[in-house]
Amino acid sequence: MTPHDSDTLKLEKATYEVDPKDVTKEMVSPYPAKVARKRAKHIVMRDPSIEGQEIQANVRTVPGILNTRHCAFAGCKGVVVGPFGDVLHIVHGPVGCSYYTWMTRRNQYRSREDGKNYMSYCVTTDMQDSDIVFGGVKKLRQAVQEGYDIFKPNAITITATCPVGLIGDDIQTVAKEMTEELGISVVAFNCEGYKGVSQSAGHHIANNGFFKNWVGEGEATDEEIEGFTVNLLGEYNIGGDSYEIERVLEKCGINVIATFSGDGTYDAATKAHLAKLNLVMCHRSINYMAEMMETKFGVPWTKVSFIGVQAFAKSLRKVARFFNDEALTQRIEEVIAEEVAAAEAEIAPIRERLQGKSAILFVGGSRAHHYQDLFADLGIKTIAAGYEFAHRDDYEGRQVLPLKVDADSRNVEELRVEKDPERYKLTADPAWVEQLKEEGFLNRYEGMISEMGEDTLMIDDISHHELETLIKRLKPDIVGSGIKDKYVIEKFGVPCKQLHNYDYGGPFAGFQGAVNFAKDIDMRINNPTWKLVKAPWQN
Ligand code: SF4
Repeated sequence: MTPHDSDTLKLEKATYEVDPKDVTKEMVSPYPAKVARKRAKHIVMRDPSIEGQEIQANVRTVPGILNTRHCAFAGCKGVVVGPFGDVLHIVHGPVGCSYYTWMTRRNQYRSREDGKNYMSYCVTTDMQDSDIVFGGVKKLRQAVQEGYDIFKPNAITITATCPVGLIGDDIQTVAKEMTEELGISVVAFNCEGYKGVSQSAGHHIANNGFFKNWVGEGEATDEEIEGFTVNLLGEYNIGGDSYEIERVLEKCGINVIATFSGDGTYDAATKAHLAKLNLVMCHRSINYMAEMMETKFGVPWTKVSFIGVQAFAKSLRKVARFFNDEALTQRIEEVIAEEVAAAEAEIAPIRERLQGKSAILFVGGSRAHHYQDLFADLGIKTIAAGYEFAHRDDYEGRQVLPLKVDADSRNVEELRVEKDPERYKLTADPAWVEQLKEEGFLNRYEGMISEMGEDTLMIDDISHHELETLIKRLKPDIVGSGIKDKYVIEKFGVPCKQLHNYDYGGPFAGFQGAVNFAKDIDMRINNPTWKLVKAPWQN
């Protein structure tokens, strides 16, 4: 018996040795009164008796507060665009912006028959002072030509960093001209770092660019692809996650047409409109694509999570329900039974060593939500969690949409997408799709709050000071976060698991991924080293 066998993976009530209300006060007390009032709106304690609990999110960080966000360029190039492996990605900007886009998230890519694989390349126009003064368009055109001559990629992307927008280089025209000249798709993304309050704006810009230029475009035909076909949206193949997900999907008889964007190819992306269902993993970074594909081509979408044994099983059952095919459902149940038993046999002894431990999680879009299920599989309770760049719907659920125009949406083009009169095609019986929508099975994401345990703390866009306060007071056994706070956390004698790039581990998705995660977390939490580290406040 695993910790939660029910269909709803609700998490348990949090218990603390200290009063969490005192902790939240302590977190904001050093700030000036106005800032403290602002930050308090980002800190919420889960109270299931309050209908529609609200949290402040996706607003600019108060200057002077050290947080763990990144820029719109990072969201566009680093998260969504970069993992396409047979595509050459050119960064138009100074080399400094490009450096950390070089394999930072450990996205993996498998070369196809043509052998093209540019995952480990970092290509930049390396703008200098003279380019800033006289314009960098000439240099960019030269870089696209040179990149094409050397690599002969299947497509090229151009992502812009801050100076490009400030001097007004017309990268869209360069992309258009070079597409005609080279005969391959060259797509430009105006994702200058300053465009949003966080990397989130960059995800939206990336989605728009791919939707306009790739989905259903290029060599793509509209010929139906037989069988149970899906796209994986918001799955970035960190540490090989997609490989484990696809292994299980294939075993069930489900065919993945395209992944946006882990292990993704240009060719597959152009055919994405032919899939019968979109599976949305990271809601924040890609819900735009799911909605636009449904509006234009009629592909429905459902929110899934592949992180955690029970969560993955639940997601597979969702796919079975959508296709509503007896043989497929039976096959999926057989695969679940076999895979869960194998994973559980390995996890059970580890769970005994981890049972009762606590975690706090501060990760990007959906990971702070998804990983709570995997920690629960291991007997670890999440006592505080939050996102770096979420919007309110990621916490409160899509029922709060549409949100008012915010700092991001002012800067990001809102595409007007309409039903394609010739290519729109329902992939399932319309009455069935309607029924599933009414049930909240399709087009719905409940958000993190409703699934958090009572009294659990939720903190949006946490600062280093707030995180340090949490660690001192709540004394978690592990923190899941990113590189910007990893060593701050470990200096407190608390192990940190990076959930942006998995350190050197993975895959962590799917059934075998859960086993890998269990071993990794066991090794961290139960490592005697931590007893030797004296936290600064203990001196
Ligand atoms: S904020 Fe601008 S200058 Fe800084 S890394 Fe991002 S794109 Fe580059």
